[in-house]
Amino acid sequence: MSPRIKMKLLKLPCIMLITALCIFMLAACGAPKESPIAAEQALPAKPPAVPLLLISIDGVRYDYLDKANLPAFDRLIKGGLRADSLQQIFPTKTFATHYSMVTGLHPDRSGVVANSMWDPDRQTRFFMGNRDTVGDGYWYEGEPIWNTVEKAGKTAATYFWPGSEAAIGGIRPTIWMPYDGDATHDERIAQVLAWLDMPLDKRPDFLTLYFSVVDSAGHDYGPDHPEVASAMQEVDRALGLLVKGLEQRDLLNNMHILITSDHGMQDIATDRYILLDEYIDLSAVRVSDWGPAAQIWSTEGGLSADEIVASLKNAHPKMRVWKKADVPARYHFSEHKRVPDVVAEADLGWMISSTPFYQRMESGPAGGMHGWDPAWQNMHGIFIAHGPAFAPGIKTPALRGIDLYTLMAELMQIEAVDTDGSLDAFSPILYSPVVAAIRTSNWLCDTAELVLREGAGSASVQYGERVFSLPLQVSASGVRYEDTDMLFWSKGNTAQVTIDSVELNNCLQIQSSI
Ligand SMILES: [Zn+2]
Repeated sequence: MSPRIKMKLLKLPCIMLITALCIFMLAACGAPKESPIAAEQALPAKPPAVPLLLISIDGVRYDYLDKANLPAFDRLIKGGLRADSLQQIFPTKTFATHYSMVTGLHPDRSGVVANSMWDPDRQTRFFMGNRDTVGDGYWYEGEPIWNTVEKAGKTAATYFWPGSEAAIGGIRPTIWMPYDGDATHDERIAQVLAWLDMPLDKRPDFLTLYFSVVDSAGHDYGPDHPEVASAMQEVDRALGLLVKGLEQRDLLNNMHILITSDHGMQDIATDRYILLDEYIDLSAVRVSDWGPAAQIWSTEGGLSADEIVASLKNAHPKMRVWKKADVPARYHFSEHKRVPDVVAEADLGWMISSTPFYQRMESGPAGGMHGWDPAWQNMHGIFIAHGPAFAPGIKTPALRGIDLYTLMAELMQIEAVDTDGSLDAFSPILYSPVVAAIRTSNWLCDTAELVLREGAGSASVQYGERVFSLPLQVSASGVRYEDTDMLFWSKGNTAQVTIDSVELNNCLQIQSSI
């Protein structure tokens, strides 16, 4: 056992739970007999910290797991936790969501507001494909989990993750890799296994893996194309190699594996484009990001924010426009200097572009895209967790990417910094022998039907094609799930519901099932 791995006391209320936990750990994880010191001392103790592998499979929509026969995914799901989905932050763009997962911060606090950003202080742009900007710590704020790991005297090794190539606050992972899309999946798996083979005093405590093929297939062909299922099968093959390698090392049940994706995917079409230059003189503004949402800046001698909003407000029925201060509160996208003066967001499946760009596009099927409101179910990704903290077979409603930083700090037994997330959705589940399940109920309000999916520490509310993940809040009466501008507070068969700041009235439960 590494000398850096320490036992920590756990403030659990019930000795019986601990006893049950130890029995569970022995039975489910095949742990060696000497490991649960707690069993001998009857002290409430957490198992020793084990390595944590964070995997991102870019662009895996919540329902892709059902698209093909995926034996390696299935094995990890059976042995651990599967969430209905993973809700990310706005905008649902690769750099913003990946960096949000590892910092627990919305873009207002992380500074990563898109894949393509404008910085008004430096008067420069950030491009996802530009090595100089990607590797410049200036663009990343907050504390990524690998910095928390390093500060705790542990070791981080990243095989790709947005932000991992930069010194953030002067700190980098001990081992990091410059992004190389040509690195084969086999090479990536072999390297992670080689890191886990290092002597215990050097072995990384935190590792990452990243795969991009599913995202590429979704963009090129659209989410429902067979190429997407093929890409999922290729990632499953690579995961199979990983699982086999971990089994050979007796690590599969003795480390934590978290599988995430950064966003879902929505099909787009050439007849669902909004061309901004039909409504505004593009030479009088700066647009730092295009697509599902456009990030628009006023310029000196050009249009003011008020003038931009006035031109675009009722320009197109499929586009909403806000001044920075008026962006919906649940987007947390109103404060950072890199949040633009004006945000325009298209309806799901619609794109904001310009005539010159549109004319250069090839005709035919336009493929897939992401970047819209994170609540659209099609923007939700996946979340699977496996390892000693997760009883086999746990099911949860949609979880939030913003909570993963805190979860990872808890799993690695290091002190988390303050974030926008919390452990609320996970704390009733971790190291619990009780297998969490989901209770589903249907609700009818004056103007809407809702589906509530309740887990041990959180719930999701489905409202049309949108699904909101809400943490459980302690409440003196009734069961209360709450997040910014969102509330589901049930008392018996009635509920008080607010969605997007709008109160729904007379909500009654009409059906429920386990
Ligand atoms: Zn992505």
